This record gives sequence, C-alpha cells and structure tokens, in this order.
Amino acid sequence: MQNNPMKVVCAWCQKVLVDDPDSNAFVSHGICEGCAAQLNAQQKVSLEDLLNRLSIFRSWR
Ligand SMILES: [Zn+2]
Repeated sequence: MQNNPMKVVCAWCQKVLVDDPDSNAFVSHGICEGCAAQLNAQQKVSLEDLLNRLSIFRSWR
C-alpha cells in the first residue's frame, strides 16, 4: 500500500476530474473549473472558501 488510489468527480456536473484505473479507487468529490466559476458568479461565494470545504483540496495543502 504505497498510496491511496483516488478518483475525483465534480460534485455538481459529475465530470471526472481525476481518473484512477483502479476500480477499487476511493471516490471523492471536487469541483471542476467551470462549475466553480459558475457558483462563484451566481452565489458570490469565495472560490477559496468553496475549495476549503472540499476535503480533496484541503488534503493538497
Ligand atoms: Zn463541474
């Protein structure tokens, strides 16, 4: 177990952001650039705040 395989899909449009060939890969949710921009424009939410709520982005820091 060197690393944790992970597949990431956009929580809004289900677009696959990170595809892992391992069928047993852990599936996490993120957000694609298109949806992030849309949400940011529509809801006036901070993109950084939005990303901070997603564990996948938090784990990258
Ligand atoms: Zn999306």
